[in-house]
Amino acid sequence: MVTRKELYDKCVRILSEKGFSENCGNEVSWVFQDVLGEKNICLSSGGVISREQEEKIVSVIERRSEGYPLQYLLGEWEFYGMRFKVGEGVLIPRQDTETLVDVVVNKYKNSDSLTLVDLCSGSGCIALALEKQLDCERICCVEKSEKAVGYLRENIAVHGSIAEVFVGDVLDDGLREKIPQADVIVCNPPYLTREDMEHLQREVTFEPETALYGGDDGLDFYREIVRRWKGRLKAGGGLAFEIGMGQEDEVMRLMIQHGFLNVRCRKDLCGINRCVIGEYPGNTM
Ligand code: GLN
Repeated sequence: MVTRKELYDKCVRILSEKGFSENCGNEVSWVFQDVLGEKNICLSSGGVISREQEEKIVSVIERRSEGYPLQYLLGEWEFYGMRFKVGEGVLIPRQDTETLVDVVVNKYKNSDSLTLVDLCSGSGCIALALEKQLDCERICCVEKSEKAVGYLRENIAVHGSIAEVFVGDVLDDGLREKIPQADVIVCNPPYLTREDMEHLQREVTFEPETALYGGDDGLDFYREIVRRWKGRLKAGGGLAFEIGMGQEDEVMRLMIQHGFLNVRCRKDLCGINRCVIGEYPGNTM
């Protein structure tokens, strides 16, 4: 029978040989935790590993060694201190995106009874993290992918969220009319360029293209969303986007052009401008 330490070493070896993971030891520990159902893995002691568990662990590690995302294999991932269900068909929550949540939390932490709209919701990680931090009266999540909507609904249930799901395209005018006037609209749209799509990191190739590709220059959704959704903001309401590296000037310009005030960008923990936010004064005639 294999010991925990032997199995651990074997898995680290499998992972490091292929070179997709930069974090082999931790990844193996997470898979152990998941399969064995233990919160902390102790290699030198702890119960025996059954044949079945061993096979499960090795098969997960082998799949991971081919570059398949660990997050999909585990079926959930952490974002803003919360666990979110994920799997094929939904974008994996990224740490970069916590910047968008931080910016919105800072701006609205003293506001009451917010109506929040989250466009291109995916797993719902942004909306649900905001719900936990802010006083929200209504939360509307718009998502068009059926698969992503499955995870979104699951996450809403797991976290006991009040969020309402609107299945449809953010570019659909009919759908937009059903959404209430918002205090704040948040959105992490697809923003990779055509060029980016040709050089995706292996893991990212398993994620849905519809959640990644933002047209030739990556800016299609910003152009459409700013134009179509500004009228869905209450006077003084905020629009906050996540952006890709180097997109801040274009996105800020776009928002200013459409009448937004106080438009600014914020950096993520790596020092990259990751978020653009501004306020819409309303339809001043
Ligand atoms: N941040 C993601 C990536 O770099 C892209 C997600 C998006 O387009 N919103 O893979």
